[in-house]
Amino acid sequence: MIVSHLEIKNDHEIRSLSHLLLEWYQQHQRDLPWRQTRDPYAIWISEVVLQQTRIDQGTAYYHRFLKRFPRVADLAAANLDDVLEVWQGLGYYSRARNLHKAAQILVAEFGGQCPERYSDWILLPGVGSYTAAAVASIAFGEPRAVVDGNVQRLLSRLWDWEDEVGSKASVHFYQTTAQALLSGHEPGMFNQALMEFGSQWCKPGIPLCDACVLRAHCRSAERGTQRDRPVKRRTKAVPTEIWAYAIVCDPSGQMWVRKRPEHGIWGGLYEFVPRALYESSTDRETHRISISHRLTHKILQLELSIFVLPDARGWVGAPGLICLPQSDWSVRAFPRPLSAALPQIQGRMSS
Ligand code: SF4
Repeated sequence: MIVSHLEIKNDHEIRSLSHLLLEWYQQHQRDLPWRQTRDPYAIWISEVVLQQTRIDQGTAYYHRFLKRFPRVADLAAANLDDVLEVWQGLGYYSRARNLHKAAQILVAEFGGQCPERYSDWILLPGVGSYTAAAVASIAFGEPRAVVDGNVQRLLSRLWDWEDEVGSKASVHFYQTTAQALLSGHEPGMFNQALMEFGSQWCKPGIPLCDACVLRAHCRSAERGTQRDRPVKRRTKAVPTEIWAYAIVCDPSGQMWVRKRPEHGIWGGLYEFVPRALYESSTDRETHRISISHRLTHKILQLELSIFVLPDARGWVGAPGLICLPQSDWSVRAFPRPLSAALPQIQGRMSS
């Protein structure tokens, strides 16, 4: 039974679309490392690493992560700092913290094995419907359709869907349509075909319509609305917050830092000394670095004031602050914008 709101496509057309997609996938799929395995742990890690990350960058992290934590039990037993250190540079550190927590639950409740069912995956921290459907379908063949941004784009164009992404009607449309297309096919392969087609052919911006195998079925290509699909959610103005830090350091590379609380933004990562904790000092700022960093809900304007002291250890920092030698900078996990500023800070220390 095909979803009723899609009278423009009948059962026969849905079957035809699915077959064309699978044929295309068999010829065009990329050779990616997580496609060589049915290991649910490796597939799970790949799905989490690749969220909001380019494939080339994500592939390096995928290998690095599995090398350091080859099994669920290794991840569960690891120190959170070690997990964050491997994750450093990928951003969205809550994903790493949730992986760690979820691995501990898998050890405690599933004997260190990955569950087979979507209904078990969806209960783990950090696992949403997309990840649960991807792992359950690819590793265990559960017939659950995945819906990511690539799938939304492709389906919105095929059906010329006019509702904005994220609306109740759109959530229902994408899920039921993807599920209808998946019906009767090998779930893992079909899900990957749908995502791959969206990412490689029905691309954002200018899709490759002229040579598209689905063109005869595509409402949006017929009407010339490809660039307007999917209809984006209207965005609100994003507020800017200023975060001021003091970089209290010396020419030998010693620098004061502190660990952020586990919860909230950049939880468990290291940051410099909040500027307010250095207010009482009479030392003059020697350099300043300004960085603008966009988060989903706000923009952080980071103001880094550098204070190069003759010997950083001569400053008695507030509780919770530690003085790191330069050799330790790379083994502490800093949030991406702070980590990106370290080479500049290093340059200013000696100038
Ligand atoms: S015809 Fe163009 S818009 Fe339609 S599915 Fe193919 S690539 Fe996407």
